[in-house]
Amino acid sequence: MLTIIKNGEVYAPNFLGQKDILLIGDKIGAIADKIEKPTDFVEVQVVDATNKLVVPGFIDGHVHIIGGGGEGGYKTRTPEIQLNEILLAGVTTIVGVIGTDGTTRTMTSLIAKARALEEEGISCYVLTGSYQVPVKTLMGKIEDDLILIDKIIGAGEIAIADHRSSQPTVEELAKIGSAARIGGMLSGKSGIVNIHVGDSPSHLDLIEKVVAKTDIPIQQFYPTHINRNAPLFEAGIAYAKKGGNVDFTTSSIPKFIEEGEVKCSTALRKMLEAGVDLSRITFTSDAQGSLPDFDPSGELIGLKIGQISSLFDEVRDSVIKEEIPLMQALQVITKNPAERLKLTQKGIIMEGKDADIVLLQKEDLIIDTVISKGKVMVENQVVKIKGTFDS
Ligand code: ZN
Repeated sequence: MLTIIKNGEVYAPNFLGQKDILLIGDKIGAIADKIEKPTDFVEVQVVDATNKLVVPGFIDGHVHIIGGGGEGGYKTRTPEIQLNEILLAGVTTIVGVIGTDGTTRTMTSLIAKARALEEEGISCYVLTGSYQVPVKTLMGKIEDDLILIDKIIGAGEIAIADHRSSQPTVEELAKIGSAARIGGMLSGKSGIVNIHVGDSPSHLDLIEKVVAKTDIPIQQFYPTHINRNAPLFEAGIAYAKKGGNVDFTTSSIPKFIEEGEVKCSTALRKMLEAGVDLSRITFTSDAQGSLPDFDPSGELIGLKIGQISSLFDEVRDSVIKEEIPLMQALQVITKNPAERLKLTQKGIIMEGKDADIVLLQKEDLIIDTVISKGKVMVENQVVKIKGTFDS
């Protein structure tokens, strides 16, 4: 199947100007000023991108694909994500994680769900483990999971600085970092350790101690929720300036922002103003995670579900409200996560890479068309290829 995307302004995420893009099967075949539809070819689909911006499919590196939550008892376990929500958010690559509950949420169901999403037409990977330490793996060891299971590309999310964490020691976190590092090296994968950072004032101290005491480089760890409160955000700036990678969570509720969470789009502007290298920063949605609200004694008083649509909403706000150039803002959900997660076929519009592409309306940056692995999944804001149980 050949597809030509015509007359769009391409942000690869670097600005390439007006280009036509030829998709051959699930890959990007050519990018040129003009590509004409061959007349003697049986089937060539033309996607008109006039007045549209053509950008890479988005990568969401932290999603509770089989649901998460549960902090308020069984009835507060959140539901699985469905394909249509993912597609309407412009996301074509997703990384599934478990979360607080490493007992009823298992690696086997996480991998099955990743395979289901892959069968439905997007790209999906997972991390091994949950909040808990020791890490509950599939094969018994983090290294084995990475080396032997294709879908597993890293470990996490391991919780630190949180009342829900296993309170790992420096030595325990160092062992996890080293196992993931070796497993990543031997499998040619990222082997990154995704760290859930909670509200405790110890912030990123544990990671910094591991880095200070061992040979493990700071980039081995991938702390997330860095924008969850102002002091952690400040600690995140210092951490990123030392070469650490930081991830912001886009899912939020107005109450969290009122209480001091730094809105993602604002967080991006502030970090760039503070002199942090853009390549260190990513956004993830934390979708299907519960957004639990605790009272001062740690008692749960309310619950919402994280939305995958928040991922690009925050990038759009970065451009429209914070005046960050689109080329830069896009990087936090395309090129940067692809590098962090070592997904070498993803996050960039370039010949030979996977044909994962999003078309945005030029005037308001609304997601119009989503192409995953060469297939048009969403067109004119309507899902064309539905998930098995999507209505
Ligand atoms: Zn988390």
